[in-house]
Parts: sequence; C-alpha cells; structure tokens
Amino acid sequence: MKICVIGAGPSGLAQLRAFQSAKEKGEAIPEIVCYEKQPDWGGLWRYDWRTGVDEYGNPVHGSMYRYLWSNGPKEGLEFADYSFDEHFGKPIASYPPRAVLFDYIEGRVKKAGVRDWIQFSTVVRDVSYDEGTGKFTVTARNGETDTESCEEFDHVIVASGHFSFPNVPYYPGFESFNGRILHAHDFRDAREFEGKDILILGTSYSAEDIGSQCWKYGCASVTVAHRTAPMGYDWPDNWKEVPALERVEGKTAYFKDGTEKTVDAIILCTGYKHHFPFLPDDLRLKTANRLAASDLYKGVVYVPNPKMFYLGMQDQWFTFNMFDAQAWWVRDAILGKIALPDGVAMEADWQKRQADEDAYDSDHDAIVYQGDYVKELIAETDYPSFDVEGANQAFFEWKKHKKKAIMSFRDNGYVSPITGTIAPPHHTPWRHALDDSLEAYLQAPKAAE
Ligand code: FAD
Ligand code: NAP
Repeated sequence: MKICVIGAGPSGLAQLRAFQSAKEKGEAIPEIVCYEKQPDWGGLWRYDWRTGVDEYGNPVHGSMYRYLWSNGPKEGLEFADYSFDEHFGKPIASYPPRAVLFDYIEGRVKKAGVRDWIQFSTVVRDVSYDEGTGKFTVTARNGETDTESCEEFDHVIVASGHFSFPNVPYYPGFESFNGRILHAHDFRDAREFEGKDILILGTSYSAEDIGSQCWKYGCASVTVAHRTAPMGYDWPDNWKEVPALERVEGKTAYFKDGTEKTVDAIILCTGYKHHFPFLPDDLRLKTANRLAASDLYKGVVYVPNPKMFYLGMQDQWFTFNMFDAQAWWVRDAILGKIALPDGVAMEADWQKRQADEDAYDSDHDAIVYQGDYVKELIAETDYPSFDVEGANQAFFEWKKHKKKAIMSFRDNGYVSPITGTIAPPHHTPWRHALDDSLEAYLQAPKAAE
C-alpha cells in the first residue's frame, strides 16, 4: 500500500508522526510519500518574507508575519506525545512567538526521523482517481530539478491548510485609492506602517492581531470597520472601531454612519477560502470555515470518496493536538483498525455535527464542542490521552484575559494539560518585547532588554 500526504505543515507532519509511532511499536506501515511545495517543513510556521509567487512561480503559502506571537495559549495546542517541557528542557511562557513554535514543531519530527519521507520544493499539481484500479494518480513538480512526476497511490491525505488563499472583497473607490491596499496574507512587517494611519476591514483574529502589531510598532492610528459587530475590546486611545466601509475617495474612507477618516493604508483582514487548485471537482472539498466541515465523516474522511482524507480543514480553537487526533485516527482507518460505515451513515455524521454546531451560540460552547471532538477521536486510537478539559480551561481564561486587557493578555500563564506545569510569565511584557527571535524569547530573565 502506498500513501500520499500533501503538505508538511503541522497537519501533514502529524500524519507522518502518527505512522512513525506505529512503526516504532513494531507495526507494518505502508510506504509514505509527502509532497511539500516549500523547501522546508512547518507550513505557515515557516516564515516566508516573500509575497506573491515563489521562485518556481507557485503562490507563496505563508500568511504569517514578523513579530507574530501565538494568539491563543500554547496549553491549547500542546502535543500529547511531546510536551513543551520536554522540548525546551524548562517551563516557558504561554504565548510563544512564531519562531519558538516552529522550533517546537520541528523538534518532534526531528526526533521521529521522518524527514526522508518528504519531497521538498515539490508542488502537487493534479490528483485523479481511477474507478477501475481504485487508485489515485498524483502529479507533482519538483521546482529544483524542474521535473514532473506521476505516481499511483492507494490513499491521498490532503493537509495543505486553508489560511493561504485570501478572500478579497471590493469596495467602491479601491481602484483609485492613493495609498496601499493589501490583504492580511501579504502583511509581513508592522514597521512598514510606523507613523501611518491604517484602516482595517474585518473583526476576527487577523484584524485584532495585525492592528495590535501596528500599534505596538508605532503606527499613528488604527481604525477598524466592522460589517457585523465591533470587537468591543478596551482599545488604546489611537484605536477606533467604526461601522462598515462604504467607499473610498482619494485617501478618505467613508463609513456607513456618515463618518470619514483619511488613511495611508487599508489592510483587508477579511479571511481566507478553502482552495485546492490541484484537485478535480469530484475530489475537492467545498466547505465554509466552520467547526464541522461539510462532507467529512469524523471531520476527516471525504464522504464522496472515502479513500481520500482531509486534515485540519476545520476552523480552529484546538490546533496541533487536534491535527494529531485526526492523523492518528486516519492512520488507523487506513491500517484497517477502524472500520468506516456506509455512505449514508457517513453523510448523516457530518450533517449531525453541523446541526450540533449550529445549535451553539457562544465561544464557550464552541470550545467545548471542539474539545469534545478531540476527545472522541483520541478515544478511538492510541494517541496519548491528555487533559482536554484542562486545555478548555486555558481557552476560557484566555478569553477572560483578553476582555480584561487586550494589549497585555499575553502576559498571563496557564497550566499545561500534558505535564501540569504552570507557565511562568515571560521576562518582558508583550508590548515591550520588540525582538521576537527564539534567542531573545528563551534568554534568562535577568538578561532581558
Ligand atoms: P499549513 O500550516 O497551512 O500547512 C500546509 C502545508 O501544505 C504548507 O507547508 C504548504 O506549503 C503545503 N502545501 C499547500 N499546497 C500544496 C501543494 N499543492 N503541494 C505541496 N504542498 C502544498 N494556530 C495556532 O494554534 N496558534 C496561532 O497562534 C496561530 N496563528 C496563526 C496566524 C496566522 C496569520 C494564520 C493564517 C494561522 C494561524 N494559526 C494559528 C492557524 C494555523 O492554521 C495552524 O496553526 C496550522 O499552521 C495549520 O496547519 P496545516 O498543516 O493544516 O496547514
Ligand atoms: P476569519 O476568522 O475567517 O475572519 C474573517 C473576517 O473578515 C471576519 O471578521 C469577517 O466579518 C470579515 N469579512 C469577510 N468578508 C468581509 C467583507 N466583504 N467586508 C468586511 N469584512 C469581511 O479570518 P482571520 O481573522 O484571517 O483568521 C484566520 C486564522 O488566522 C485564524 O485561525 C486565526 O486564529 C489565525 N490568526 C492568528 C494570529 C496569531 O496567532 N497571532 C494572527 C492572525 C490570524 P463578519 O464577521 O462580518 O463575517
């Protein structure tokens, strides 16, 4: 049996680690080929300074930016088989910068020794399924050698992420705006906006965090236009929430309530689309960004063709450990340890999950809902059980801390659901910590800037 994994971000790497852990226990595992279009692993956590296209003409995957710190507590994403304490050899604070989380992700897969399973700088361009042979053909292009390969597989696992293809709305006047308009996907460095007045569209995590970065690195003002409801945090004095944008003229933005603001740049924090340009219609997942994705039995099996799996396609409270729960479950479905029900039952499964999701209306309920999903999957495999309630607790406290003080919530610490360790405060409060490097983050408190 031969398995194709598309993408070596946290989800794809979880899949490699899941198979490697079975191998470590003496089980026979199939041949695995993972295609990764970037020259290294880590997915979004591998910082890419570029925007637009890469050196091979493929769209740049990266949506992360300099100075990005985790927006949720690390206790909500900790791997159950590889704790932060094990990786860093000491307790660390709860909201690590990107480079620190990249190091953590990499530590586990280096230890597992799965790098040889990955073909880097290799973009998957096409996947097709042959009803007669029951096999998939995957066409991929290696950018370095500029050669194409075509290989047959018994299963395809799509782990290509869904926060890379920007949702770009149009507002009247954009074409003649006398400043810069960019999507969050192309935002790289807050220092670019030092001294500038910026307008942000959107009210979710990108809006909150990109605005906060720009504020931290000295922009003149932040104006956030909401089309549904304001975020409602206790913002700094030079930060204002306004109703939806109507149009722009020159450098002036006009809002629904008749007010206006002259701005230097507009940052579209308007979300992303699930986008799989390498998949034909019959294999392509079509879903909104929600906790229970459409067409996925148990959140992972593609119901129209159950030999195909998708990882990490949900909107995310839980991340790395949820991808693990999914990857261990998919591994066991492929190894025949978990039996799939018939199509009717699989269809009913995702529809029920969506109905349950729709019945909830608070973030608290959504966290519990996704925590229960993680519990459900890990109960069916040998993924190490962990204190999911404890992770939920970290999320609840995080929400409270944000309400209390949006520019200092990252100065709090939580209890690890894996080791029980209480995270120490970081040596420098977030708003004064301008260097986001691994070295600066891990330095001893006395040597702090
Ligand atoms: P990705 O990380 O997107 O990885 C997908 C991989 O697939 C990439 O390496 C890509 O190059 C590869 N790929 C794509 N297409 C192809 C192809 N055709 N052929 C070959 N390879 C391909 N989560 C948190 O838990 N905490 C945070 O603080 C946090 N911050 C975030 C900040 C931003 C700006 C964004 C956009 C997301 C953030 N997330 C955060 C959520 C993030 O989605 C997950 O943490 C995680 O990166 C998802 O992993 P993934 O492997 O599913 O997808
Ligand atoms: P998102 O959560 O999908 O939110 C999209 C936002 O865009 C919503 O507020 C939506 O408003 C708005 N929007 C959509 N279309 C619009 C339009 N036509 N006009 C105006 N507003 C529009 O996307 P996101 O904020 O980019 O977050 C994506 C992921 O990135 C999340 O997983 C998040 O955790 C992650 N992230 C993390 C960090 C960090 O860790 N530091 C930073 C940034 C992002 P409505 O509510 O009106 O629909």
